[in-house]
Amino acid sequence: MKPDLFEAPDYYNIDDLLSEEHKLVRDAARDWVKRDVSPIIEDAAQKAEFPKSIIGGLAEIGAFGPYIPEEYGGAGLDQISYGLIMQEIERGDSGVRSTASVQSSLVMYPIWKYGTEEQRQKYLPKLASGEWMGSFGLTEPDHGSNPGGMTTNFKDMGDHYVLNGAKLWISNSPFCNVAVVWAKNEEGRIHGLIVERGMEGFSTPETHNKWSLRASATGELIFQDVKVPKENLLPNKSGLGAPLGCLDSARYGIAWGAIGAAMDCYDTALRYSKERIQFGKPIGAFQLQQKKLAEMITEITKAQLLAFRLGQLKNEDRATSAQISMAKRNNVDMAIKIAREARQMLGGMGITGEYPIMRHMMNLESVITYEGTHDIHLLITGLDITGFNAFK
Ligand SMILES: Cc1cc2nc3c(=O)[nH]c(=O)nc-3n(C[C@H](O)[C@H](O)[C@H](O)COP(=O)(O)OP(=O)(O)OC[C@H]3O[C@@H](n4cnc5c(N)ncnc54)[C@H](O)[C@@H]3O)c2cc1C
Repeated sequence: MKPDLFEAPDYYNIDDLLSEEHKLVRDAARDWVKRDVSPIIEDAAQKAEFPKSIIGGLAEIGAFGPYIPEEYGGAGLDQISYGLIMQEIERGDSGVRSTASVQSSLVMYPIWKYGTEEQRQKYLPKLASGEWMGSFGLTEPDHGSNPGGMTTNFKDMGDHYVLNGAKLWISNSPFCNVAVVWAKNEEGRIHGLIVERGMEGFSTPETHNKWSLRASATGELIFQDVKVPKENLLPNKSGLGAPLGCLDSARYGIAWGAIGAAMDCYDTALRYSKERIQFGKPIGAFQLQQKKLAEMITEITKAQLLAFRLGQLKNEDRATSAQISMAKRNNVDMAIKIAREARQMLGGMGITGEYPIMRHMMNLESVITYEGTHDIHLLITGLDITGFNAFK
């Protein structure tokens, strides 16, 4: 892969809206991605291997639990810092950002928000340092967009629970130490359980042959009469709203992360357009190529403003799930369109691993599907503005 010459676009001086802390956190993540992610990521993606060597770095830049209080090992940052970290990581690779999102918003967040003090003390510091890695099991083979239909279930056996079922498409599953698993009790109520690797009957086979998020490990979580101690149930929230609360936090991070992928594609295409000569001129001198670049920077700028305002609302605890859906949907769609246009601007070179664009483009095909598909987020906005449920 070519050396990482990334320069972040900031067409509307959005940096002026950031605090010194925001910029410090963002720049530390940016420098780390340039130094430790860019040189190895293409190879990892080509080999379809999760680069475990980056776990320590992710912990150091505060990517594991950015907003989790410091007393539990988190970075104690605000929501805009969290978003900026996700933006920078996804500038490197959406798969690396996925690993961080799952760890922070889908594993640490529910333990912090819905768990007991003992659970917080036991799991959060180890997850924040990367000593333990976590996964989040909601999706099942027959229940993706409709997780409320899940069939994974647990029974109360007096002094423990017995868990049965299967989860599919689970990021980090092949190497996770712990999994936050959503399952129904005998009354059909959804609860979160912390399942640890090594519990008898728990296995995590890897899913192979992905063309997307190749540097992120994906797999299944299979439970065959797994004995789960009673103290592993998350007691403070149940029902579908509990996993959806985690998804809100992750989707918010994705709204920022997608900007990073888009910025990398735009920056790569802009630089290439000044260097690549055809018909005696740099291709950036042709109107058709300028139209692509001008539209890219316009869309990136709009997405930055959307994410920044959402961050302010999150900091004030005022962001609604529907507002988060809108930003996730818009920003991922923006990024995938920019990746496709940028890919074309590089001609044949655009399909190679010399440049990051094709990898971003393929990664974004997962990002537009997971954490609520593009269409599901549209239905959420539709329901919010009309009051009519068009899901069923
Ligand atoms: C790489 C990757 C990593 C993932 N990581 C995780 C993870 O860590 N944990 C986890 O729990 N899950 C994870 N997922 C699962 C992901 O969240 C689901 O794939 C997603 O929710 C969609 O579910 P599905 O694939 O079953 O598609 P389906 O729900 O079968 O949807 C298929 C199509 O039907 C459409 N559709 C569905 N319902 C409606 C409706 N009511 N109206 C209109 N259209 C509809 C959808 O928009 C979609 O286009 C991951 C997925 C991928 C690809």
